[in-house]
Amino acid sequence: MAEVVVIGAGLSGVAAVIALRRAGVDDIVVLEKSGRLGGTWRDNTYPGCGCDVPSMLYEYSFAPNPWSRCFAGRSEILDYIETTAATHEVDRVIRYNAEVLTARWDPAVHRWHLETTSGTYSARAVIVATGPWHRPRLPDLPGLDAFTGTAFHSARWNHDADLTGRRVAVVGTGASTVQFLPEIQPKAAHVDVFQSTPQWVLPKPDYPLSPGLHRFLRSYPAARRALRGMHHWTQEAIGLPLRHPRLLRPLEAAARLHLRASVPDRTLRHALTPAYRFGGRRLITSSTYYPALTRPNVRLRPTRVTAVEGSHVIGADGTRTRADVIVLATGYHIGDIPLADRLYGTDGTTLARTWADNRRAYLGTSVSGYPNLFLLIGPNLLTGTTAVPTVVEAQLRYITSALTRLRSSGCAALDVRPEAEEAHQQALHGALRTTVYNTGGGSGYYFGVPGVNTFCWPWSTGSLVKRLHAFAPDAYTWTPPASALPHPRTVNGRRLV
Ligand SMILES: Cc1cc2nc3c(=O)[nH]c(=O)nc-3n(C[C@H](O)[C@H](O)[C@H](O)COP(=O)(O)OP(=O)(O)OC[C@H]3O[C@@H](n4cnc5c(N)ncnc54)[C@H](O)[C@@H]3O)c2cc1C
Repeated sequence: MAEVVVIGAGLSGVAAVIALRRAGVDDIVVLEKSGRLGGTWRDNTYPGCGCDVPSMLYEYSFAPNPWSRCFAGRSEILDYIETTAATHEVDRVIRYNAEVLTARWDPAVHRWHLETTSGTYSARAVIVATGPWHRPRLPDLPGLDAFTGTAFHSARWNHDADLTGRRVAVVGTGASTVQFLPEIQPKAAHVDVFQSTPQWVLPKPDYPLSPGLHRFLRSYPAARRALRGMHHWTQEAIGLPLRHPRLLRPLEAAARLHLRASVPDRTLRHALTPAYRFGGRRLITSSTYYPALTRPNVRLRPTRVTAVEGSHVIGADGTRTRADVIVLATGYHIGDIPLADRLYGTDGTTLARTWADNRRAYLGTSVSGYPNLFLLIGPNLLTGTTAVPTVVEAQLRYITSALTRLRSSGCAALDVRPEAEEAHQQALHGALRTTVYNTGGGSGYYFGVPGVNTFCWPWSTGSLVKRLHAFAPDAYTWTPPASALPHPRTVNGRRLV
């Protein structure tokens, strides 16, 4: 039994424990399905994996880090999350190898009951921190199972597959391919890159940050704030035209210039030029992707893959390409909350059913009918330029203030009012209508439900932080009183852990 159960021990789950303790909530359990914390940065081990926002923005505000580079690599980020967790003794409350199978709200006792692979738990409140990039998207390719070589998803890199001297087929040209192609190209005999949709790519101004610079920044915290501020405002400057597409031309011109400077071949350049507007899909930065595509052992195949036959990858254009290894860089079910079909609210309905036609959440955090439940990086909270830790910390200020208010009120539960949720949805989708996320022609990249953008926040990062700054008690229904309610020791005859 716990006051708060946090599901997931990635960057967000770790931040949640620290924020809850700071707010005076100590009775916490974190349920993590894996045997190690770190989420994204634990699971994604592909060569070249790293941050695509400046690392100074990809850190907890309370734990500034002496990053070795402007854009840190995956192992440094994982190390940072683990070190921060150790410093704050987060490990103590994590139950590893405990995958949450179901979470049910019990209206009789106003508590959540959670079934996991290692026991049953009960909690007054639940924070879902299972991450929007957790589930790799596997393409449904006929013949893939019978491929004669080795095939794996880039998010679960098979390090036993030595690519030295092999023919590699890469399926997809998203953010991961952009990072690993320059790393695998020098080793492989040949790489065929299958591209169904070209990307807009901006250069990545990566550079090492020396220990001397960090000593200076430690001595002069104002200088670090200024550097961080510069990165923040650069990201915001890129974000502004995404909301006002009439301002996009300079960004598109910069991306075209980058392409022209990196790729001398006109036909290849043409194949790499997107037909949709900048920002219509996830933003990509790299200074090494285009040069890798120009190497003699790399061939861009501007076609969708339709099937695999024996040792050949079949393109929609009819091409047959021999491969020893297939890397499926086909992305993630973004914004998907896999737990949604195992979370049961007040009327016994799963969140997945409630969300069948739209993933509604008040401020991306609370869903009506799911009391005392909070989603970290829930629907419509990301902009493409905002670093995730900024969003998570803003949400945690909101959530901890909701929980401390719940505690001090003596109430048993708070549940967001449907009208408040609906008003937020109206404003949000109204504002999204004119953004490039919705109008850019990026084939519904951000549309988690057909026709509905379930991913993007249509305003600035500043407005997101401001909206989440003040908890809005009037937006919620409060159920009194908690004190009279019994605390169960068993659920369905099973003893609570
Ligand atoms: C390759 C890659 C690069 C990225 N780069 C950036 C970047 O540059 N900037 C940026 O802002 N964001 C980036 N992201 C997004 C990144 O996912 C987030 O920044 C952040 O790591 C999310 O942390 P999280 O804790 O919310 O989720 P995750 O890191 O996904 O962690 C979720 C945790 O929940 C656990 N879990 C899931 N389901 C269950 C269950 N049923 N029961 C128990 N535990 C469960 C998982 O095992 C995992 O440990 C990137 C994502 C990827 C995949």
